[in-house]
Amino acid sequence: MKLDLFDLINSKGKELNKEIPIEMDEFDSPSGNYPITAKSPLQLYLSNGQGRELSLKSEAHLKAHAPCDRCLTDVEIDVDIDYEIEIPISDGKLVIDEMDAPGCIDGLILDTEQLVYDEILMNWPMKVLCKEDCKGICNKCGCNLNNRTCDCDRTVVDPRMAAIQDVFNKFKEV
Ligand SMILES: [Zn+2]
Ligand SMILES: [Zn+2]
Repeated sequence: MKLDLFDLINSKGKELNKEIPIEMDEFDSPSGNYPITAKSPLQLYLSNGQGRELSLKSEAHLKAHAPCDRCLTDVEIDVDIDYEIEIPISDGKLVIDEMDAPGCIDGLILDTEQLVYDEILMNWPMKVLCKEDCKGICNKCGCNLNNRTCDCDRTVVDPRMAAIQDVFNKFKEV
């Protein structure tokens, strides 16, 4: 949803409390599209501090699903959005530093979907794992090594790795 902040920015001391539904059903990330299976509305609190500063606080909870990076099992990911920002106001405008401008504010328009998207991206785990010590799948027979073992020989000899090892061995000899 796009909210026009004009009134708020131009009314000293004005406050706004809003509950805004989150529209997206999918987190369309650079690494893939992941379904959002549960979401609370976005709780938005905005206030104009004496005409000098806009303060924005927002909170929401979402659940998304993504495959484990190692074994591809479906993993539920909890995302807690807790975003706060304070932006100075001058002459009825927001003074935004170009270098760290929030993507959710354009002029006097606040884009709540963009805010939610940016926060999911910020909170997305670096690695999606079904458990810390997930054993992954066998690259020979494809079995899930968390559930069973196989007799495949999984020693991988990568020619580039072998070359690096040679270099290391030479250093050791010196
Ligand atoms: Zn796994
Ligand atoms: Zn195997």
